[in-house]
Amino acid sequence: MNTETYIQYGIPSDWVKIFETKNISATTFKNTPLKQLVDKYGIEESQAKFVKDCLKRTPIDEEIAQQLLERNRYVCCLCKGQKSDAYIIHHITPYAKTQDNSYDNLAVLCPNDHDLAHREGQNLTNKISPEQIKKSKENWEKEVEELNVRIASQNGEISEADFINIPRVVELYFRLYKEVPNTKYSEELKSRLFLNQNGNINHKFLNWTYGNTVTPFMSFDPLDNATLSLHFEEVFIKILAKIEFTDLDLLLNKTSLKNDNLVGKFCFYVGGLYGNRPILPIDEKTQCCHLYFHRGKFFSEWIVDPKYLRSSSSIDRLANRTEYIVYGRIRSIGEKEWKRKKYIHYDIRPYLFGLPTKTKSRRPLIHYIDKDEYYDEFE
Ligand SMILES: [Zn+2]
Ligand SMILES: [Zn+2]
Repeated sequence: MNTETYIQYGIPSDWVKIFETKNISATTFKNTPLKQLVDKYGIEESQAKFVKDCLKRTPIDEEIAQQLLERNRYVCCLCKGQKSDAYIIHHITPYAKTQDNSYDNLAVLCPNDHDLAHREGQNLTNKISPEQIKKSKENWEKEVEELNVRIASQNGEISEADFINIPRVVELYFRLYKEVPNTKYSEELKSRLFLNQNGNINHKFLNWTYGNTVTPFMSFDPLDNATLSLHFEEVFIKILAKIEFTDLDLLLNKTSLKNDNLVGKFCFYVGGLYGNRPILPIDEKTQCCHLYFHRGKFFSEWIVDPKYLRSSSSIDRLANRTEYIVYGRIRSIGEKEWKRKKYIHYDIRPYLFGLPTKTKSRRPLIHYIDKDEYYDEFE
């Protein structure tokens, strides 16, 4: 059955469900005479007529329909599904006028609000205007985007972790679970002596505090590194199941910082960052890197211990990524003067960061400056 096909012609999803149970495809519908649709399939005449008219149109491009529905969570952008779960793709400027099937001219509405949008003639009570629909669509899509980012972040949907602060992550785990972190990689890591028999990290073996190579993720062959990082990624995802991380964007909208007690709060951030790479080789004297951005009166900064960078490509990516997801905890909030401007400074301890699977479209876009510029800016 092809639900999508019907939807692409602007037919309400609740009707489509009925047609599906009656086993009528869009093609069958198109080719079956009206009388037969009524007599044989028991479809109401006015409904059959409406659908037949819709099926005469040029269907909306499959990809556009899909994108629109996903970006609206398959829910009416006006009532957000309060009036009905059913949805219909509506042409903001009527199809009859312009045949415009482009993304900008389409909106997801419920049948109820769809009727109100199409109200004409004498009865214009509660008529919904195209401008109202446009505005609601824009706002709802933004809300959905933020919701998707929040869900993905809380689920630990990271496509590539570039940094995991092992001791901090383990410390947090202990506080929550009061036991040794255990994952499906534990046994293998024990057999390779990266972990002790009790599951603790074998500090001596990892040797990250002395010698030339002090980065635990980079001391061994790539296969071992991968297992090690997957282990700690999984440990962190278990933490995510227990602690709610707040979107930093929400915290940066707070006006009364004193009353909100934000220090100690767990937060995540998805977006572009400024930053610098560590100077190689990484040893005990290597300075910490800074990841930061400033927006309005706020300056957020994560101090990154380069020891826990995942791989040499993670180092390359640092200050080169257009987007990051960073999980952290607010260590302190103070003042910072920078380039003769005063900011409210958030010092956030990073636990883990990497590439997000869901991102936000930001205006203005936050993006990186290159390394040389960074050193000028940040002494
Ligand atoms: Zn609605
Ligand atoms: Zn419509």
